[in-house]
Amino acid sequence: MLVVEDEPDLARMVATYMTHAGYRSEIAFTGTEALNRARDLDPDVVLLDLGLPGVDGVEVCRQLRTFTDCYVLMVTARSDEIDRIIGLSVGADDYITKPFSPRELVARVQAVLRRPRRPVGAVEDSGEEPREFGDLVVDLDGRRVTRAGEPVDLTRTEFDILALLASSPKVAFSRRRILDEVWDPGWIGDEHVVDVHVAHVRAKIGDDPAEPRYIDTVRGVGYRMVRP
Ligand code: CA
Repeated sequence: MLVVEDEPDLARMVATYMTHAGYRSEIAFTGTEALNRARDLDPDVVLLDLGLPGVDGVEVCRQLRTFTDCYVLMVTARSDEIDRIIGLSVGADDYITKPFSPRELVARVQAVLRRPRRPVGAVEDSGEEPREFGDLVVDLDGRRVTRAGEPVDLTRTEFDILALLASSPKVAFSRRRILDEVWDPGWIGDEHVVDVHVAHVRAKIGDDPAEPRYIDTVRGVGYRMVRP
């Protein structure tokens, strides 16, 4: 994993804890360095401090998303900043507020890393046919999505949400259930994080929430696939 933090003591402390927990950890002290290191290392997880000198965490996250689907855990100094960052739609997967205990941090990293090993709604090599919703095809095993034959580039979190909905297309999933399945049962946070990620998925698959062709909003509940 890559630890991006401009306070050297904190950066080293975090990297040491993560190394002890069994994760190879590298440090970047600035946003520019973070982007260069991420290109070289191709990390599974980037722990990204929001407040960096120069290129800040939001911009780093935005640029990371142009070349990697690694998990991005955004670290903020104030919990009320989280809503603002979520609103910016830069594609972070989870958020953690300073100060955090090393144990909490390790738990969060473990939680996100468990996700790709447990693809939502899919068993490895299950032989399951891709699910079709009109011209939208969701390949649960291959973790691929195409629309009208064109590949759709989703982040892991976005794919996991779409895969969950597509795996049981008749089921209306509550926001809470989506959080439990896609994030982690221990995830504590605002349920509207789900809405933001669904909005990203809709934008990428060209779905109009006012006239949905793929993902329906179930008022007061959450989301369900549109019946073909
Ligand atoms: Ca900082």
